[in-house]
Amino acid sequence: MQEAKREATFDALVVGGGIAGCEAALNIANNGYTVLLVEKDLSIGGKMILLSKVFPTLDCGACITTPKVSEIARHTNINIFTGSEVKNISLNGKHKFKASVLKNPRYVIEEDCTGCQLCEEACPVNVPDQYQYGMVGRKAAYIPFTIASPRVAAIDIENCTLCGACERVCPTKCIDFTQEKEVWAVSVKTVILATGFHLFDPLRMPRYGFGSYKNVITSMQMERHLAPTRPFHTVLRPGDGKLPDRIAYVLCTGSRDASVGNPICSQICCMYSIKQAQLLMGALPMADVTIYYIDIRAFGKGFNEFYEQAIGMGVNFIKGKIGKITEKENGNLILRYEDVSSGKLQEAEHDLVVLSVGVLPNQDSQIFFSDRSLQEDAHHFIRQPDSLLNPAKTSIEGVFVAGTATGPMDIPDSILSAGAASAEAISYIIQS
Ligand SMILES: Cc1cc2nc3c(=O)[nH]c(=O)nc-3n(C[C@H](O)[C@H](O)[C@H](O)COP(=O)(O)OP(=O)(O)OC[C@H]3O[C@@H](n4cnc5c(N)ncnc54)[C@H](O)[C@@H]3O)c2cc1C
Ligand code: SF4
Ligand code: SF4
Repeated sequence: MQEAKREATFDALVVGGGIAGCEAALNIANNGYTVLLVEKDLSIGGKMILLSKVFPTLDCGACITTPKVSEIARHTNINIFTGSEVKNISLNGKHKFKASVLKNPRYVIEEDCTGCQLCEEACPVNVPDQYQYGMVGRKAAYIPFTIASPRVAAIDIENCTLCGACERVCPTKCIDFTQEKEVWAVSVKTVILATGFHLFDPLRMPRYGFGSYKNVITSMQMERHLAPTRPFHTVLRPGDGKLPDRIAYVLCTGSRDASVGNPICSQICCMYSIKQAQLLMGALPMADVTIYYIDIRAFGKGFNEFYEQAIGMGVNFIKGKIGKITEKENGNLILRYEDVSSGKLQEAEHDLVVLSVGVLPNQDSQIFFSDRSLQEDAHHFIRQPDSLLNPAKTSIEGVFVAGTATGPMDIPDSILSAGAASAEAISYIIQS
């Protein structure tokens, strides 16, 4: 496939359109500077746009994300490239960077798509829906998810059979299989890295049975179960569609565990599990929810009160590390653990297990700088050489970092960090 070459100039390049990148882009744009926001996914919003409610206020995630995301999408100073990758960033003199950005074809003319979903209905191909974490299917012609931004169809060309059914029904004739990759040569004065985090893959801990036992799911799958745009109308056991009534949370799955190469605390898992437990008590009033933990880290403003609220609602907290999970014939799960209060090995039966998976670094930013001048910390997050006095700075002058690209943090801290990065970026632009 041929690659078209284009050029553009902006004041700032923001890489990653999660809440941190969006906030940083918006701050810069509101100060009168132009921004290119590059997001590799089909929608901006990162993980936050897929959450149910947020701790500790239990505000609806979609309701607080959507206005911000649509403000960014409509901002005249912000250009957004979704489905795009930064291939290289190089210094081109003081206050000058050159970036090579690859815009992948969506096979849909974005400006003409009305989001009517007729292509989706017509498409005969079904594949697992990555935005519902594989719990339901989607078509090869699809709108990523209901509140996606842009809310525009895309063709998953890897799974497309080129049958043409979508093209035939599209009322605006905006499906275009001739679209090609575009390489953009972008000149900017400053760069903000907001590439976020990866979730720990529980397949790396076979003793918990994820991938083998259908009723062992991840916390992100539970977020989708509880979200307003959820795949089912209630919380169901994936194994048999039964309403679960004994739900267990396994905290620190893939965190604080040197055996899987991640010795650090993920900072958010205790709190999001406590949040989900409270939401489950509302969704399934007859269900018992048990949280197995090493320590509860409820360190933020209102967090301990939120934890106490969960205890008051009847969530059961057991201090004990889960050794192994096995499956019974009826799909129920037996959890073996050491009960720290009694020092005894115990077993408990649950009908749904949620693994509270941890936060891992996304090392994408390393490949942007071919001279490897972007330093990592000991845990492979982006290093903040002056983490106390200037946490937005990286090891490269004029390149700043926002959000979880520097390490685990929740949404308010990601937004604060994006505020710092954008303030630094603006002052760097002003000096140019
Ligand atoms: C199950 C779960 C529940 C949670 N619940 C809460 C909660 O209730 N309250 C709370 O405060 N926090 C919660 N969090 C934490 C919250 O999700 C994070 O704090 C927040 O998403 C961090 O935002 P971010 O922008 O730093 O990263 P991300 O959300 O990871 O966004 C990063 C973005 O960068 C993009 N990207 C990555 N690499 C590239 C690349 N190479 N090029 C271009 N784009 C790239 C990604 O596609 C993504 O869109 C929860 C997290 C999880 C996992
Ligand atoms: S051409 Fe591809 S995307 Fe369109 S309907 Fe056929 S399989 Fe689906
Ligand atoms: S591609 Fe066409 S059919 Fe599909 S959502 Fe867009 S306008 Fe509707």
